[in-house]
Amino acid sequence: MTSPIWHPFTQHALEPAFQKIAATDGAYLIEESGRRVLDAISSWWVITHGHRHPLIMQAIRHAVDRYDQVIFAEYSHEPAEELAKGLVKLAPQGLNHVFYSDSGSTAVEVALKMALGTFHNRGEKRSRIIVMEHSYHGDTIGTMSMGERGVFNAAYEPLLFGVDVIPFPEAGGEQEVLDSLEGLCRSGQTAALLVEPLVLGAGGMRMYPPQLLARFREITRHYGVFLIADEVMTGWGRTGTLLACEQAQITPDILCLSKGITGGALPLAATLATSEIFEAHYSTDRRKTFFHSSSYTANPIACAAAVANLDIWKSEPVLDRIRTVEDLHRHRLWQLEGNARIADLRQMGTIAVVELAVPAGGYLSNVGPKLRRFFRERGVLIRPLGNVIYLMPPYCVTQADLDLAYNVISEGIEQLARGAL
Ligand SMILES: *Cc1c(COP(=O)(O)O)cnc(C)c1O
Repeated sequence: MTSPIWHPFTQHALEPAFQKIAATDGAYLIEESGRRVLDAISSWWVITHGHRHPLIMQAIRHAVDRYDQVIFAEYSHEPAEELAKGLVKLAPQGLNHVFYSDSGSTAVEVALKMALGTFHNRGEKRSRIIVMEHSYHGDTIGTMSMGERGVFNAAYEPLLFGVDVIPFPEAGGEQEVLDSLEGLCRSGQTAALLVEPLVLGAGGMRMYPPQLLARFREITRHYGVFLIADEVMTGWGRTGTLLACEQAQITPDILCLSKGITGGALPLAATLATSEIFEAHYSTDRRKTFFHSSSYTANPIACAAAVANLDIWKSEPVLDRIRTVEDLHRHRLWQLEGNARIADLRQMGTIAVVELAVPAGGYLSNVGPKLRRFFRERGVLIRPLGNVIYLMPPYCVTQADLDLAYNVISEGIEQLARGAL
C-alpha cells in the first residue's frame, strides 16, 4: 500500500516512494537497509552539533520523567526559566524579554505582532513592514507575505498582504539599497524592517556583508523603525559566530530564534525583545496585552533540550569545530574556481555555495531534482535550491565526510555537463 503521507515541498507525481530512515547518528541518516547517508544540509538546517548529541538526548530523557506539556499562561516551569535567562545572556545586550513559540514561522509572526502591537498601544499609526528582495521568513500566510513572491506562493497571492521591498544588496549596489531603505523609513509609516542577517537562506543562500547590516541598524534607529533579525537559519553558529548579528555588532529590537535552538532535536522557537517593546505592552489596561499563544508554547521537554544546547555551547569547543568546518570548506570549495559551469562560489561560516551557470535558473530549474537524485544515490543528502548547490553540514562533520560531499558535487557537475543526468 502506498503511504497516506503528504510530504512537505514534494511533488508526489514526480517522486518515487520514500525510503525510511531507521536511525540518525552524528552527521548521518541511516536508512532501513542500513545504508548511511551524509546529512550535508543538517536535515533542513536544524541539526547543529550532529544528530543525537548525547547531552541533549540525556536532557530529554530526564525531562520526560517529570514533564509533558504544561500550560504556559497561569504557570511557568524551570526549563523555560533557565532557558530564558540563558538566551538573554547570550543574545546582544538589551534583548531582555523572551517569548516562546514552536517554529521559525511563528517566531517571525510573533515578532511582527510585537512590532505592530507596540505602535498600536502607543497610539502611533505605523504598520508598514520593509523586507528584502529574495527573503524567506516561513510558510504561514503572514510570513509568506513578507517573503519573496514566486512559484511557492502564487496560489495564495490574493491573501498575502502588501509590504515594502528593498533590493538585495549585490556587490556595488549597496548605496542604492541604503537609499531605498531610508526613503521608505522617511514616510513615517514603517513599523519594522525584517531581515535575515548576512545570509538569505531559502532565497538562494545569498550573502551580504556585516557593514551593511550595521547601516540598516543606524538607519532604522534614526527613524524609530524596529529592526527585526530573523536568525532562524543564521543563528547557532551557522555564519561562523553564535549569531550573525554579532558580526555587525548590533542589537536588533527583536530577534527570532528557532531551528538550532534545541540543537535540532525538538521543535521550539523564541522571539526576544527589548524592554521598550515589552513595556509598550505592560499596562493595567488589558487591551494592551500581547495577544499570542500556541498550544505547545514553551514545551518543557523542548526547553530542557535547548538548555542542554546552551550548556554544550558553554562547555564544548563549538566555535573551534565551526572554524574547522570553515577551513575544510575553504580548502575544497575554491578548488572548483575556474570551472566554466559554475557561476559563483561563496562561503560564510559553515555554509558553502556552488551556484551553477544554467540558462534556466531559479528554483524550478530542472538541474535541482536531477542532482538531488544523483547525490542521494551516492550517499549524500544535498537539496539544491534550483541551480544553487549548497552544503550546510552539522559541526561534527569530518574531512572525509566533506571530501565525499565535494567529490559528488564535482562529479554531478561533470555528468550534468556531459548530458549524462
Ligand atoms: C526556516 C526558516 C523560517 C521558518 O521556520 P519554520 O520552523 O520552518 O517555520 C523562517 N525564517 C528563516 C530565515 C528560515 O530559514
